[in-house]
Amino acid sequence: MAQPIAVQVNEELRTCPECGYQNGFHVAFQREGQGATVAVRLVCPSCSAAFDLGLRITIERPKT
Ligand SMILES: [Zn+2]
Repeated sequence: MAQPIAVQVNEELRTCPECGYQNGFHVAFQREGQGATVAVRLVCPSCSAAFDLGLRITIERPKT
């Protein structure tokens, strides 16, 4: 995945800031570090640019 671009959410985030695609985003998940923190990223379906809203969630690593 390309380096994510930091983006802020005002009233609505639906249009890609890079290419102007207007129908929303795909979602991707990127684990951060060795713990359970996972970044939720948006990916434009049109230009594939990745965006980071600062949204982080916790998902435990699978047991090995
Ligand atoms: Zn785009």
